[in-house]
Amino acid sequence: MSESLPELQSPRTRRHQESIDAAAKAAARAGFSEETFRDSVLGVRDDVDGYARALHTVEKRKVHLRTEPGPGKSREQKALPIPDGVDPWAVDVLTLAATTRVVAWCPACLGSGATKCPTCRGAAKVRCARCEGAGVDARGAECHGCGGAKKTPCSACKGGQVECGGCRATGEVTAWLEVERSTRPVVSVHPMGAAARTHPRVSDPADFDLDPSRWAATRVEDTGLRAPDDAPRELAPAELKASERAVSTRVQRFQTVRCLVTYGTALATGVVPVSGSPPEVDATADWRPIELRRNVTLVVGAAALGVGLFLASGWASRHAWYAQRAHLPAVVALAAAIALAFTLVVSGVLLHRHARTVTRVWVPAGALMLLTGAIALLTARDRPRPAHARASFAAGDVAGAALEADALRALDLDRAAGEAILDRVHRRALTRAASPEAMAASAREPWYQAGAREEAQRAVAAAIERAVAGADEARVTALADLAREFAPPLRERLLREGALRRAGACAEAGDGRCVRDETTRALEHGAEPAQTDPLLRRGRARCAESLRALVAQADAARAAEEQAARLRPAIARSEGCTALTQEPTAPTVEALRERLRGAESRVLAEVRQEGEGAAAPEAPRRRRHRGR
Ligand SMILES: [Zn+2]
Ligand SMILES: [Zn+2]
Ligand SMILES: [Zn+2]
Repeated sequence: MSESLPELQSPRTRRHQESIDAAAKAAARAGFSEETFRDSVLGVRDDVDGYARALHTVEKRKVHLRTEPGPGKSREQKALPIPDGVDPWAVDVLTLAATTRVVAWCPACLGSGATKCPTCRGAAKVRCARCEGAGVDARGAECHGCGGAKKTPCSACKGGQVECGGCRATGEVTAWLEVERSTRPVVSVHPMGAAARTHPRVSDPADFDLDPSRWAATRVEDTGLRAPDDAPRELAPAELKASERAVSTRVQRFQTVRCLVTYGTALATGVVPVSGSPPEVDATADWRPIELRRNVTLVVGAAALGVGLFLASGWASRHAWYAQRAHLPAVVALAAAIALAFTLVVSGVLLHRHARTVTRVWVPAGALMLLTGAIALLTARDRPRPAHARASFAAGDVAGAALEADALRALDLDRAAGEAILDRVHRRALTRAASPEAMAASAREPWYQAGAREEAQRAVAAAIERAVAGADEARVTALADLAREFAPPLRERLLREGALRRAGACAEAGDGRCVRDETTRALEHGAEPAQTDPLLRRGRARCAESLRALVAQADAARAAEEQAARLRPAIARSEGCTALTQEPTAPTVEALRERLRGAESRVLAEVRQEGEGAAAPEAPRRRRHRGR
C-alpha cells in the first residue's frame, strides 16, 4: 500500500508528531489502542487546507406613510397613498416623496378638524377632583367643588371636542410615502472545518480588518467591497428576511497546512487529516480499516468459540460417563480459552505487518499452543478405565462402576474388562434380589461372559423352586409363569402341582366339574393316575354327599318359593357330579328339574289366587307385576 503513496515520509517535524498523537487519541475511540495506531502509521504528509469567509452588508428597507397639516380649504382632496403596495427595492428612494405627495382629508379627524377630547373622552365633564366623585366631603356635607353633582366641567376642551393635531384643525393633510433604510453586517464561513474552527472570531465583522500577522492561517485573497452577486454561492448570507438584501460583499480566503496521517491494517489503509493548533482530527477521517479488522475479528472469535464448544460437547456426549464423571467444566473452559487465544492471534495477524509485534502475535500464539496441548492431554487422560471401574465396585459405588464399565464396552476402550465388570454388577444384583421376580429382572440384563446367562437362569430356577415350597396355589401359578422363561421343565412341574392342589380343594368342596377339569389338567402336565385317582374318588364321594344335603334342605322347605330357591343349587351340584362320574346321580338331574317345575307352577298358582282374592286397590298392581 505504501508503494502507491511515494510522498509518504517518516514524521520529520514536531507538527507531524503532534498530528500522529492526535490521530492516535481519536483511533482509541474507534477501537485501536494508541500504541497500536502509532505502530500502524505508514507515513505523514502535508496538505493544504483552506477556508473562505464573506462579510456582507445587508440592507433592510420599509415603506412608511408620512403626513403634515395641510393648507386647508382646498377644492380637491385625493386618496392617501398606501405603503403596503410599494416594493421598496423597485422604487426610486430619492424621488418617492415627490411623486407620491397629495393633499387628502385628514385621516385622524376625517376632515372635521376636531377630535374627541382625550381628557373627558368627549363627555365634556370630569370627575370632581375635590370629593373624588363622592359628592360629599369628609364630614358628610355637600361638596363645595361640584355642589353634590360629583362631576365638574372639563377644562381641556369645549363641548368634548379639541382641535385635531394631525391637521391643525384644517381638516386636510399633505401625505407622501418614504423609504426607511437600515443596514447590518453578516459574516458567512465555508467550509466550517477544522482549519476554520482554529481561527478565533472568524465570524466577527471586525476581524476582517485585523492586522494579517495576527491570523494563524495565511490570507491569500481579500476582494475588498464588491457587488453581492460576485460572492460564491456557498458564501451567500444565510437567513435573510423578505425585506432584506445584501448590498455589498467582501471575501477573504485563507490557507493553512494540515497533516494527512496514513495508517494501515492487513485489510486496508486509511487517511486521517489533522489540522490546527492544537491539532484536531477532521471529521472526514477514515476509520474503516479499524472497523473492518474489528468486525472480522469478532466474527472469527464467535466462530472459534462456537467450534470449540461444539467439539467439547461432542467429546462429552460420546457417553453419559463423560457428562457425569469426566472433567467437563475444565474441558469447556479450556475450549473457550483456546477460542480466545485464537481470536487474539487473528486480531494480531490482521494488523499491518509493522504492527505485528511479539506481544500482539507470538504471545497469544504461544498461549494457543499451550492450551491446545493442555486440552489434548486432559481429554486423552480423562477417559473410562477398568481399574477405576473395579475400584468403584469394590468401594460399593455399583452405579458408578456400571457406568464406567458400560463406557468401556460401548466405546470399545476395553470391551472384555467392561463386560466382565458389568457381569459382576448384575450378578451382585441377582444375589441381593429379595424375590424370584426381582432376580428375574436382573437375569434379564445383558450378560456378556460365556455361561453367565445360564448361571443366572439357574439361580432364578433355584429361587423359584425354593419359593414353591410352602406357596399357595395362586403363588404357584405366578411362579409357573416366571418358570416359563427361566426353567421350562420346572414350569411343567409347577403347573401340575397347581392343578393337583386346586383339584384337592375342589374335591373337598364337592365341586365335581372343577375336580374333573383340574385332574385333567394335572394329567396333561404329566401327573400320574395314582396322584389323580384318590382326588377323583374323594370328589365323587364329597359331591354325592353334598348333593344329598342340598336335596334334604329342599325337602325341608315348606313354601313353594323357598323350595324352588333350594332346588336350583341342588340341580347345579347334580350336574357337576354327573360331569365328574359320567353316571346319573340320585336323584337324577331330570327328577330334580321336574320337581323345580312343579314348585314354580305352585308359586304361580299361589300368586294368581292371591290376586283374585285380594282387595280391589291391590289388583292392578299385581296384574301389572305379572304382566312384566
Ligand atoms: Zn365635588
Ligand atoms: Zn374635554
Ligand atoms: Zn385633522
